[in-house]
Amino acid sequence: MNYVLKGHNMVDDVVSMLMMFYPNEKYVQVDSVCEDRVLVSEISELSARAFLYKDGVLISSKECVAENKSQREIKRVLGLSIARCINEKLNIPLPWGILTGVRPAKLVSEAWEKGESTESIRKTFKEKYFVSDEKLELMIRVANEEKKIVENGYKKAGLYIGIPFCPTRCLYCSFTSYPLKQYNDRVDRYVDALIKEMESSKKFLDGIEIESIYIGGGTPTSLNERQLEKLLNSVEKNFKIPLEYTVEAGRPDTINEEKLKILKDHNVSRLSINPQTLNEKTLKLIGREHSVDMFLNVYELARKVGHKHINTDIILGLPEEGEKEVIATMEGLEKLSPESITVHTLAVKRASRLKETLENYSMTEAEKMDKLINISREYTEKMDMLPYYMYRQKNMVGNFENVGYCKENCQCIYNVAIMEEKQSILALGAGASTKLLLREKNQIERVFNVKSVDDYINRIDEMIERKNSAIKGVLPV
Ligand code: SF4
Repeated sequence: MNYVLKGHNMVDDVVSMLMMFYPNEKYVQVDSVCEDRVLVSEISELSARAFLYKDGVLISSKECVAENKSQREIKRVLGLSIARCINEKLNIPLPWGILTGVRPAKLVSEAWEKGESTESIRKTFKEKYFVSDEKLELMIRVANEEKKIVENGYKKAGLYIGIPFCPTRCLYCSFTSYPLKQYNDRVDRYVDALIKEMESSKKFLDGIEIESIYIGGGTPTSLNERQLEKLLNSVEKNFKIPLEYTVEAGRPDTINEEKLKILKDHNVSRLSINPQTLNEKTLKLIGREHSVDMFLNVYELARKVGHKHINTDIILGLPEEGEKEVIATMEGLEKLSPESITVHTLAVKRASRLKETLENYSMTEAEKMDKLINISREYTEKMDMLPYYMYRQKNMVGNFENVGYCKENCQCIYNVAIMEEKQSILALGAGASTKLLLREKNQIERVFNVKSVDDYINRIDEMIERKNSAIKGVLPV
């Protein structure tokens, strides 16, 4: 997709709008209208205009006029002109209106911090950004829940540990994940490097309360029993274990009774076992290599071993799935009664196998996604769950949301801390990104580890040094 800018240089704002309608494309700035599809975005004084061309022919245009010259207002009308111009042709439902950020609840918290009332926030998002009533209520409910959790966030920190291995790569996966079949010989060296990083980084959290630990990935339970025990021993040796200690046991095909016991013995308090769907056919299609029964057995085993908080992740809009399949998944989960459910909407990412083979599948259209989201919401309400955290992904037609629902007092503090960015998070492992809260500036600075497992193992001293120089003088939070 090509675009031309006239009278301004707000590339990010224009690209964010294009992503809402033409996800996963390459967006190229050009000088003039050429063949193919081109959007022209123009600003002069208070007026924002957008023109859409196809093969050199103008097919749609819109003008929106700003109420004042503030940067925020100009950005708003720029987005609005583009959305109206493109949507005249595509007619995609936009429940989030022209809101493009990935953390909608954070926008509410920020407005509260500036002293705005909930009523005036509601009015602004409804009348100026065209957010639907339903999404507005969701934003405010989630912001309220997040607020309760982050109120003391400044004095605490989170710890993240990444295990980037999985048994196989799921069809839709775009994360840092390496299939065990090819990488098995490197797992021991990876765990050793991680322990080295842990030992040299623990000093940064001296005197700071760790509020949550999250071991994610990949699939941490891809480690064998010996490696898992070694890792958890080291966590215990180096850090004080908080009440919230999550391990993603995402793929049921990596879990057995012994691993569940190891996790329990090391005081892991929240386990995420993720079916993604409870439909056999879809599981095969998306390459999960586990069956519905395998998930159910592992879930039951986890309860038997004594795990009290189980989270289950599901994805709406998986290939070949519609209302019937989502109802089957939600009914299955209702019977199990997990403490929390995270409902994702599928985003087809460029780095996924799905993107390459998309034409082979029947995918959920934007109009139908809203219905699936409503089904999941109704079931979670029946299960007495409330939405407590949320984020949106760019590059999705219609721009939907992912929502974490939980029963009372079962919120995952780590998930909220990531969304609200009110805490420093020390992150260890390949591809991990440490977030340092610069309190005076109310800003987050990031320190990245290399993504590749081989690079991480071979350059572990460099990763440690990188953290050393970035963190000095920033923590304690
Ligand atoms: S389990 Fe998660 S991280 Fe692993 S391949 Fe599947 S989607 Fe990717």
